Amino acid sequence: MEDCLFCKIAAGQIPSTIVYQDEDVVAFKDINPQAPHHVLLIPRRHIASMAALTSEDGAILASLFTVAQKLAHDFKIDETGYRFVTNVGPDAGQSVFHLHFHLLGGRALGWPPG
Ligand code: C5P
Repeated sequence: MEDCLFCKIAAGQIPSTIVYQDEDVVAFKDINPQAPHHVLLIPRRHIASMAALTSEDGAILASLFTVAQKLAHDFKIDETGYRFVTNVGPDAGQSVFHLHFHLLGGRALGWPPG
């Protein structure tokens, strides 16, 4: 999508610190980290948010979760624990309208979230 920040990051048109990529998924460090490990995982294909997913999107969701699991292992946070979340819409504070999951870990995370 032409004016989408995360489409541009996925295409390498905007700089980011990419920690993983394949033909379907890109993972990069959040520019404003909220934990010692804070990475965003996105599908290369533009999907506006979780609310825009359809039953056709099962494979990309499986890839996103599998990559998150691998990164958690690489960051050595799979034993201490981590969070994998997506914000949907204004009440959740979604600020970029390209589906992204936050992978957060490396400290004790509060619950419930603010
Ligand atoms: O869930 P939400 O839409 O609020 O998350 C967007 C995230 O994208 C924020 O955590 C923000 O720091 C991050 N971001 C980024 N690089 C940009 C713009 C935003 O990592 N260039």
